[in-house]
Amino acid sequence: MNNTTRMPHFTRRKFLKQSGVASAAILSGCVVGRQGSHSRSNVVQTVLGPVPAKDLGFTLCHEHVMCDFIGAEQTGRHRWKVDEVVQTILPHLRQLKLRGVTGFVDCTPAYIGRDPRVLKALASETGMHILTNTGYYGGAGDKFVPKHAYTETAAQLSDRWVREWEQGIEDTKVRPGFIKTGVDEAQGTPPHLSEIDAKLIRSSALASRRTGLPVTCHTGGGPAGLAATQLFIEQGADPEKFIVAHSDGHGIEFNKRIASLGAWVSFDAVSRKPVEEHLKLVTAMMEQHSSRLLLSHDNGWYWVGQAKGGEVRDYNYIADVFLPALRKSGASEALITQLTIGNPARAFGLRSA
Ligand SMILES: [Zn+2]
Repeated sequence: MNNTTRMPHFTRRKFLKQSGVASAAILSGCVVGRQGSHSRSNVVQTVLGPVPAKDLGFTLCHEHVMCDFIGAEQTGRHRWKVDEVVQTILPHLRQLKLRGVTGFVDCTPAYIGRDPRVLKALASETGMHILTNTGYYGGAGDKFVPKHAYTETAAQLSDRWVREWEQGIEDTKVRPGFIKTGVDEAQGTPPHLSEIDAKLIRSSALASRRTGLPVTCHTGGGPAGLAATQLFIEQGADPEKFIVAHSDGHGIEFNKRIASLGAWVSFDAVSRKPVEEHLKLVTAMMEQHSSRLLLSHDNGWYWVGQAKGGEVRDYNYIADVFLPALRKSGASEALITQLTIGNPARAFGLRSA
């Protein structure tokens, strides 16, 4: 066993300390804010309506039911059949339910195959708490950014997203549970986002301030994740409402800097690296930042345009492989509860009016 495959060393004392914090937070139904203040997060907005955050349960914070990569100008409902997508993904969600997973955050944004009709049917069939989103995705060279985003201001874009929050998405009356955005890798010195990507972050900050919705941001790398977090905060938005996706590709230093700013670090490619690497990343966060960490696979999906949706990567690895490995490395049940239940409820919890 060499250095890269060695299991991390968790000390009992560290975990007992963690357990205390996690149990207190879970038992009180409150969350400890970044300044130690208590704020109550009451509901999570699912595709079937609001549910108490405490009922969300074991949640995967970044997965995909369906993706259509044809581009913003060509995608649309004509590209897929709702029933075929539902029947393809249903067995995978049933497998999750058998593993005790009850919350599922669908991170597919508008113009890449977001379809509340599909998610609603899956939620009704399985009883799972499924969240969808509003917002635009600026990753992948901005292929999925609609034309109007280039001409409208950040405020105008945020108006569109707030309208979805208030009135529901398209004709479905389904309200988003979060905002999804994305940025490509930052360029230059100091690293900065492209004009359109920066606009999407400003717009998400405005929309988050107006709605209280959290923002999940796809990031092209660590510098982009940090730049997006800083820009979000500069706009006067709450860092606790910012989730930096794909943080497991950023390295420990970026993870710690982003968590220190008060934002969420999302390790959402669990299963894509050897388990030891994710255990190391999680261990590094345990020292100070276990209350800022989210886990998921970024798996799925019904791939629009491929025969029968192509090959779906299941969502079982965290339950089947990662958590047993984490336990074996010395993690307490309280810590596992924090990572799988407590943190998702805080990240996606909305203060009720
Ligand atoms: Zn994703």
